[in-house]
Amino acid sequence: MYRGRIAPTPTGLLHVGHARTFALAAKRAKAAQGQLILRIEDLDVARCRPEFFAAALSDLKWLGIHWDEGPDIGGLNAPYIQSQRLDWFQAVWKKLHATGHLYPCDKSRREVENALIAPHAEDDSEPVFPLSFRPNQEAGQSATEPGQTNWRFRVPWGEEICFHDALQGPQSFTAGKDFGDFLVWRKDGFPAYELAVVADDHAMNITEVVRGADLLLSTARQILLYRALQWTIPTWAHAALVVDEKGQRLAKRSQGLSIQSLRDKGKTPTEILTQSRSVLQS
Ligand code: GLU
Repeated sequence: MYRGRIAPTPTGLLHVGHARTFALAAKRAKAAQGQLILRIEDLDVARCRPEFFAAALSDLKWLGIHWDEGPDIGGLNAPYIQSQRLDWFQAVWKKLHATGHLYPCDKSRREVENALIAPHAEDDSEPVFPLSFRPNQEAGQSATEPGQTNWRFRVPWGEEICFHDALQGPQSFTAGKDFGDFLVWRKDGFPAYELAVVADDHAMNITEVVRGADLLLSTARQILLYRALQWTIPTWAHAALVVDEKGQRLAKRSQGLSIQSLRDKGKTPTEILTQSRSVLQS
């Protein structure tokens, strides 16, 4: 059975890019006669706000995007809420930790920034956390829980991670070149995105992940987590990003293209899902 998901982060208003990605996720689930779930990714507690959560539910309903599962909350199914699932994330941390994949990292932000291998100037690739910062295999092995510490995942340095994307075609990223040891747990006591998303996509039996193409590199990291956890890897479909007039991808601050502001301007869901950005903004 096909199972897809939509997974907004309530740190701002949803924009046209979200609307299109979520509509695509709903369309692919429907075409496969499968199910779609809604998961609110609210682990960045400092930046997530209840009004953005409420706005996301309202926008999805208005766009006509329906999801399955969850108790009825006034005509909508209640979404899964990541901040209520910390026990599960701790269990996944324990499994990764027990198999020697993790180490605690006490480097300050400044130390890391000063030591980062410079990204390639010609593209927007990410700086790579240096191998010299990785401690020996024993580091942190006696810990029994993540606590208030940053934890990183040891990537197989030099290995190429390949996968097929249903929309973007064949992909390849190299550990140690495109990304280094990445955070799985944050010292504020919450899991980092990569751990939480893999833990939940697995727990929720997601068979295909549909999301924005900005997360293609993250997919390579996530594949390493699936492998370490010995879990079945879902298939991937990364939607092209909607860009603004400067060719930059839309951010939550692109308020002019928020679904709320376009709704206020009288645009219809179909216009939001199909018209070009410039027409929408005119
Ligand atoms: N919550 C993420 C975001 O809003 C999406 C994560 C995902 O789809 O894997 O950017």
